[in-house]
Order: sequence, then structure tokens, then C-alpha cells
Amino acid sequence: MVRTCEVALPLPLRSTFTYRIPDALDDATVDGARVVVPFRNRAMLGVVLGRGDSPDGASLKNVTEIIDPLPALSPRLIELARWISNYYLSAIGETLRAMLPPSVEVQFDREWQISEAGHARLRELRSLTATNEVESADLAVLQELDSRGGIAPDRILCKLAGGRAAATRLLRRGELTVRGSGRHRTARMQKIVAWRAPAAPVAARPAEQRIHRVLAETGRPMALASLLRAAHVSASVVQRLAKEGKLVVSEEPLTSEDARFATELLPAVNTLNSDQVMVVEAIRSRLQARAFHPALLHGVTGSGKTEVYLRAVEVALSLGGTAIILVPEIALTLWISNICRARFGDTVAVLHSGLSDQERAREWWRVRRQEVQVVVGTRSAVFAPLENLRLIVVDEEQESSYKQEEAPRYNGRDVALIRAKLERAVALLGSATPSLESYHRAREGKYELLCLQSRVENRPMATVRITDLREDFRRTHKADPISQDLRSAIARELAAGRQSIVLINRRGYSWFVLCRSCGAAILCENCSIALTYHKKRERLACHYCGFCRSVPRVCPKCNSEHVYFVGAGAEQLEEHLRALFPQARIARLDRDSVRRKGAFGQVLNAFGAGNIDILVGTQMVAKGHDFHGVTLVGVASADAQLGFPDFRAAERTFQLLTQVAGRAGRGTLPGEVIVESYHPEHYAIQLAASQDFISFFEKELHFRQLMRYPPFVALASVLVRGTKVEKAIQWSRQIEAFFESQKAHEIRILGPAAAPLARLKGEYRFQFLLKSTRRAALNPILNKCLGFCAEKDIPDRAILIDVDPVNLL
Ligand code: ADP
Ligand code: ZN
Ligand code: ZN
Repeated sequence: MVRTCEVALPLPLRSTFTYRIPDALDDATVDGARVVVPFRNRAMLGVVLGRGDSPDGASLKNVTEIIDPLPALSPRLIELARWISNYYLSAIGETLRAMLPPSVEVQFDREWQISEAGHARLRELRSLTATNEVESADLAVLQELDSRGGIAPDRILCKLAGGRAAATRLLRRGELTVRGSGRHRTARMQKIVAWRAPAAPVAARPAEQRIHRVLAETGRPMALASLLRAAHVSASVVQRLAKEGKLVVSEEPLTSEDARFATELLPAVNTLNSDQVMVVEAIRSRLQARAFHPALLHGVTGSGKTEVYLRAVEVALSLGGTAIILVPEIALTLWISNICRARFGDTVAVLHSGLSDQERAREWWRVRRQEVQVVVGTRSAVFAPLENLRLIVVDEEQESSYKQEEAPRYNGRDVALIRAKLERAVALLGSATPSLESYHRAREGKYELLCLQSRVENRPMATVRITDLREDFRRTHKADPISQDLRSAIARELAAGRQSIVLINRRGYSWFVLCRSCGAAILCENCSIALTYHKKRERLACHYCGFCRSVPRVCPKCNSEHVYFVGAGAEQLEEHLRALFPQARIARLDRDSVRRKGAFGQVLNAFGAGNIDILVGTQMVAKGHDFHGVTLVGVASADAQLGFPDFRAAERTFQLLTQVAGRAGRGTLPGEVIVESYHPEHYAIQLAASQDFISFFEKELHFRQLMRYPPFVALASVLVRGTKVEKAIQWSRQIEAFFESQKAHEIRILGPAAAPLARLKGEYRFQFLLKSTRRAALNPILNKCLGFCAEKDIPDRAILIDVDPVNLL
């Protein structure tokens, strides 16, 4: 008999592999531990998923090394991984890879310490006359520690023969303890500036006056970096004033390596209003019950949902539990995590894909070592290895960014529900515009429905006006991205010294480039998609695959010189606004403008501090932010999304418009929203204008029922793809025949049809859509389909299965 373990490797394979456990690693080879194993002549990092014995295991290869003294994954997270792999039909190794920290080995200055049990063991080992290999390694480690007063850093133990394995083994038996203070956490400092005597006279120098004003308005010391931005001064001015004794500059540690949101802008702790109290109390009783409980918080924009989340987290912590807050975008993690740090201290970790591998690994292990009680992050933070999890908040639960568009194709919101179930925790989904699926479930009583029906302090909702762009064109004979209506409203706000946001749902300068002679649009070489013109970069770019080319002078097809640019994107809108309002301070926020690290926070800080008059941008400007100075929101061409060949087009349009309208009038001044549209009569636009979620829900639900779409059916898409069109067609035919042979009466199978994006990244794509009124019916047939493909030698990567797809392009 040899002892063996099952190891999942980070490969797109659905099976695990069996390895033999050498004696020295026996104790440390536990479920959830990361191990190094030989695989096809290389060393690979895998995860142990179970142990066993094998009578004929002599030929098996050995586990080489155990990486973590503490197993990376808890049994519950392993269970979650299995659920995901099964439900989304993803390879277990790939699922685990999504859950685990990046495998860069952060060199933590771990410190090892002998426990009581360790001392006893040391005495016992010393008394032995002969020791085997394992025992002598244990002895060496314990002696080394003992000679150093009981504590030693990792690197010392690693120098001993078999030291690392021994330390891990001793840890498992409680004979050692480990304390990890990664050396990346040595405090970095930031400079804090304050006026020494605020009432003292201020010199007439403009820079000095601006500094004085900013500090006086803030009423608190301020981080140097934020002060420089807010007052438009250089560091030398601050230095001079400090020398003159007017300013005090001190240092304080910056606990995170993230560029922090200026703490001056963080909201104060609010006294809850009666609606909020009711909601928080409901959540409190659910948290106390210590049972799985799903709830949907439907609260209009500006109703104070964030405050509710924070109170719920506070309750969870007070019960000795931990909490996860999921947000749809990296940018929001910064905002929420800073509020959390201000409220809960440094027990907050941030996890998102914008961190470097090192940063992510460091944060992840802080969580795993239980140094943290609250995790804020984007979708993958749902896997945060917290123990005693009591609460998972999913903010803006309808957002498509919760869906991962690569394997494993999970939806962070849905996984949050499953994890909450496994952990017996409360899952709190929140939104002003819940997805149809979630709201439907709440109405069926599957989720508790919690409501915040009005804005805090009874602030009115913004008034929304729809501008008919057809009318505008008739009057002006110009297809201007800014209608006259919107233009005069912006002018009015500017004159009054107030702020505006203008949303446009496209990046770049022009949507596409057309040839007037042959009518062809210039397409991506790899995708059936028109290229977008980016003026500043002087490039045509594909937003799907990243392909770029120079801007042609003549049509590449027919050599005509009459190429022209169609449709305004954010870049053009910004240029246009600068021309219209040369005196205004204008900034743009979209994926192109925030490439530089920290750019996003800078723009938002400046806008929050009132140093920008007009903020132009894509949906990035629409979400979550809470700027009190904004009185006008303009939406340039609200229709862009309505034309998409996707059954969620109306829902997305409604959500975006409601969200962006929610950015106006959050302060004491009421807000106004102007929506420009070529389809002003469309119900999604009309109902967003009247901010009537319930009517929209009813209408859309009716449509979904008629058309047999979610939430009335469960969907799965099976995409067949290949670089050779003949192959892709052949495989589609084979799979079509397979589906026909299945004759599952509860499942309707549509296709194969050319996918809406018929060519993407150089591959031809055909699509099947499976619909079933019984969700559980989909899984077996999809599984069989994969088996069929393997049998017919249809390559793995040619088949892409997406369960509960969010994006059908
Ligand atoms: P939502 O997420 O629902 O759109 P937020 O949570 O951003 O709304 O809250 C909107 C604003 O209201 C924030 O500035 C917040 O600080 C403030 N706020 C929240 N609760 C209260 C309250 N009880 N009294 C006063 N202001 C509040
Ligand atoms: Zn042409
Ligand atoms: Zn492309």
C-alpha cells in the first residue's frame, strides 16, 4: 500500500491526477494545500483534492514539495470549486486557478515559533537514541528555534535540510505556530499638511490663498498629494510656506500601497433614516439566525444603500463573523475600501485584478491568515478565503461585469449565493435597477425583498427630460452629438458655477470609418467588427481583439479617397465640448483616459473637489459615484445599446439611464437630466425617464415570457469556433446531429446559426442556444455533449459552453 493524493492541475482538463505521497510530506499533504508535482517533464503547481491508498501505486510519481504551511483552500472553498466546475462545466484545475492567489511566491518574512507542544516534542526527540529521516529533520528545526529563543524567520529554517517540510509538518501538529508579516507591509509614509494658525493673516499671493481656501474648506489636515491637486500648486510652494512656519507638514503611514482616495472626500457616518433602520434591522435578525438567507435590496439611486451595506458589515463583525463586499468595478473598490478602512480600521483587504500579482498574493494571504475581517473586491473576491463568513454583499447585482467571460465562466453574483449557502451566511444583493432574474425571484418569495423607496433626506429624484434628436436635426440641420437643448443647459450650469456630467456610450473618436465610393466599412482583420477611430493615437482600433492599424488615406478596398468618419465617441465629444465651452474645465473618463495607473482616482478626486466643470465619459461615469455638486447629467445618444442583437438590450438601456440619472441632484440642489434619443418613444427610455422600475419590470417580464427568455427559462450557449470555416461548420453539423439524437423534450435547442459576432479574433463562430424551463435539465445534456465531442475528436478549445450567458455576442 502506498499513500496517494489527487491533485488538480491548472489545465483545461476535467480530470485530476494521482501522485504518491513521500513519507516526509505525509502530514502536510492535506486537502486544499498547494503542491509541486512533476507533470510531463515539468514541475507544476497543483492543489490536493483528496487522499487515498493504492495497492499498486509503486509506479506513481512523487509529490515534490508542499508550498503552503497553511492549506490555501478550506474544505468549503473546495466544495465551492466543485460546484462551479460542475455547474459551469469548467475544468476543475482552471476553477481552482481562478480561486487561488497568483502563484508568485511572495517572500514573506514568516516567523516561526515553538508552542508548548513543540517543546514537549523537542524533549521527546532529544531522548530518542536513533531517529529516522523525518524525525531528524523535525529535531533540527526545533533545535534551531530553541537556540534562538523559540522564534526564527522562515529563511533560517529553509536553510536546514528538509527544513521547510519539517516546519510545515510541525505546524500541522500544533508544535509550531507561524506569524506572517510579509515584508511588503513595512509602512510607507505620506505627508500630511495643515495650516499652523488658521486665523492668521494670509499673504496676497494667489497660490497661498488657494492653499488656505482648500484647507479651510476641508477643515482638516490633508494629504499633500490631494492638496497639490485641489489647490493647483506645486510642492515647492508648500515647502516654502512650511519654512516660513505657516504650514505644518507631518508624516503618517499609508497602510495600503494603493493610491488612496483622498480621505477628505469620504462621507461621514450617517444617522440612519427610518427606512434604512428597518432594512438594517431585518438584516441584523437574519445575520443573528446564522442560516443561509438571500435578500435583495432594491433602493432608488441616492437612497443610501452603501450606508446599509456598511451597517450590515458592522453587525456581521460584531457577531464575530467576517464579510465580503463585491462591487462591479475596480474603481469602486478603492472608494468602498477606504470608507471601510475609515470605519473598521486596517482589517480590510482589497482584491481585484488591477493589483499586481505581488499585491494580490499579499492581500490574499493576509485574508487567509485571518488578519482581515472584511474583503472588498470585484467578482473573484467572492473566493476570498475568509473563515466564519457571515455576509456577502453584491452591490449593483445586475452588472454584467460579474460574469467572467473566460473559463471558468462563472457569475460572481450567483456564486455569492452558493457560497453563502455553503457558509450559512446572508447574501445581500443590492441595486437601484435589479436584474429581471433577481427581482423576479424576490417577487416569487425566493429572496427577501428589502426596499428603500426614497432618497435620503427626502431629496427629490432628478427630473428627466427626453430630447428628440430627430426634432433637433430638423431645426438645426446638423447631426451634432450635443443637441441645442443640452448645450444651453450646460451653458446655464457653467454660468452658475455648477457641475455637469455628459455620458456617451462609446469610446474613441468615431464609431467607424466608411468609404463613400464602395460603401465598405473598414473592418478588423480578425473580427467581423468595424474599427473605431482614435484620434489622439492616430489609429483605428478593434475593441474586441485589440487589433490596431494606421488611419488610411484611401479606402483599402477600392482606393477611393472619399473615406469618412461616422458617429461620435467620447473622445470626439470631449473635443466638441472644449470647442463649445473654451472657458470650462473639462475632463474625460473612459478606458482610454484611465490607462495610466492612478488616473481614475485623480479625475474623480478633482471632480469631487470641484476642480472640473464638465466630466465626459462612457458608462464609467454612470456608476456608484456620489458627487454632491452635480446638477446636470446629459446623455448623448441614449439609443446606442438598443440596437444590439441581445434580448437584454432594453434592460441594459434602462439600467444605464437610471444609473446615470441617479448621479444628478445628490446634494442639496435638485438635479436635471437630459436624455438625447432617436427613439424617444421606446419604453426603456420612457420608463427610465420616469424612473419607474416596477413598470419597466412588468413590461419586460411580459416580453421575456412571450419570447421564452430568462427568468422563464434557463439558457446555455454552445459556441463552436475554428480558424478554418469548413472545420467550424463540420463540427457544428456533428453537434447538431448529436443534439437531435437527444430529443430532450424539456429543452429547446436553437441553431446552429452564425454567432452575432460571426468572426472574432480570427475564428469563425457558430452558436447553439439551449433553453429549458427546468434549469437542472441543461447540465446532463451539456455534459454528454462534451463527451460526444471528445469521442469525435472535436478539439476542446473549439467548444465553448456558457451557462447563464450574459453576453450573447
Ligand atoms: P445609493 O448607493 O443608494 O445610490 P449612497 O449610499 O451613495 O446611495 O448614498 C447617497 C448619499 O446619501 C451619500 O452621500 C451618503 O453619505 C448619504 N446618506 C446615506 N444615508 C444617509 C442618511 N441616513 N442621512 C443622510 N445622508 C445619508
Ligand atoms: Zn471603397
Ligand atoms: Zn478584432
